[in-house]
Amino acid sequence: MSKIILTGDRPTGRLHVGHYVGSLRRRVELQNSGEYDKIFIMIADAQALTDNADQPEKVRQNIMEVALDYLSAGLDPEKSTIFIQSVVSELTELTFYYSNLVTVSRLQRNPTVKAEIQMRNFEASIPVGFFTYPISQAADITAFKATTVPVGEDQMPMLEQCREIVHKFNTVYGETLVMPDILLPDNKACLRLPGIDGKAKMSKSLGNCIYLSDTEQDVRKKVMSMFTDPGHLRVEDPGKTEGNPVFIYLEAFSRPEHFAQFWPDYAGLDELKAHYERGGLGDVKVKKFLNKVLQAELAPIRQRRKEWEKRIPDVYEILREGSREACAVAADTLKEVKAAMRINYFDDDAMIREQEEKYR
Ligand code: ATP
Ligand code: MG
Repeated sequence: MSKIILTGDRPTGRLHVGHYVGSLRRRVELQNSGEYDKIFIMIADAQALTDNADQPEKVRQNIMEVALDYLSAGLDPEKSTIFIQSVVSELTELTFYYSNLVTVSRLQRNPTVKAEIQMRNFEASIPVGFFTYPISQAADITAFKATTVPVGEDQMPMLEQCREIVHKFNTVYGETLVMPDILLPDNKACLRLPGIDGKAKMSKSLGNCIYLSDTEQDVRKKVMSMFTDPGHLRVEDPGKTEGNPVFIYLEAFSRPEHFAQFWPDYAGLDELKAHYERGGLGDVKVKKFLNKVLQAELAPIRQRRKEWEKRIPDVYEILREGSREACAVAADTLKEVKAAMRINYFDDDAMIREQEEKYR
């Protein structure tokens, strides 16, 4: 069976380092591994509209921001198909049919949707489209026959729900859809990178992000203002590294060569952590090191972005070409789905003969 990747991001803002360690960095590695037959990367504008219905211009503007972030992070349009969700109208058709296979109470139990409803103060007035977006996500994944979905931990319930839909569909209508697997980051710190304010998740909607496109000065300022261990008041005090965002970021980004290059007093992160926990190591020093590590990772991305920003019409062409290809693939799947559901009236000569027989 082919190995196919589908993943994507909502164009609700520029991409941040949480996206990078949670999914984007991995996608680029998978893309370059040559192990996948097809890679589809979707800019989920239709999904972004489910909770931004009154802000179409925000979604429109961020399509280019996300596309530029993709290309700067190393996604290569020669190897990955980058497309815009709303262009592929087959996805909404699939969503409509899948919604018959999901109950309202099942959607209500989805913990990510629950948390997001709370975060957006939607409790009393949830848009139906937002409530049902896990179903549309199942359409996105299955339309491309994805076997692998590389995402952050917050997407686990979506994948579970998608797998249930696949199972139900195949049980009711016959083996048609491909069962996808989630691919989470192996590094625990990358599962759900916290915000610079210490909140559980760095998120565009919470404004606690370091963006891939931030300037060198912005990144430094944000790192130096980061939340650390509130009990670590004086340098000599013992500090906590667990749950401390600065150390979580170091877990996510630092490599032994960063220590060799920027802070050879320590062999690696374990030694640095031990010193912080013993006491005698100030936050400022650790933050300065984190800043150097982040700058080393982000500088080439920033550089590539500058180049792509000079080629906006080319970026649109990449999206147009990717969307055209995505439409063709999704149309084939929709055709199979309709055949399985017995709603392919004009493609079924046997049915016409059968009806003819019946009324003869
Ligand atoms: P929004 O607030 O609009 O939902 P978001 O910041 O949550 O935006 P998404 O576009 O919903 O971003 O998520 C895109 C991908 O990035 C998903 O795979 C998600 O799991 C991953 N991701 C998002 N935030 C983080 C994070 N803080 N840590 C790790 N992965 C993340
Ligand atoms: Mg999100």
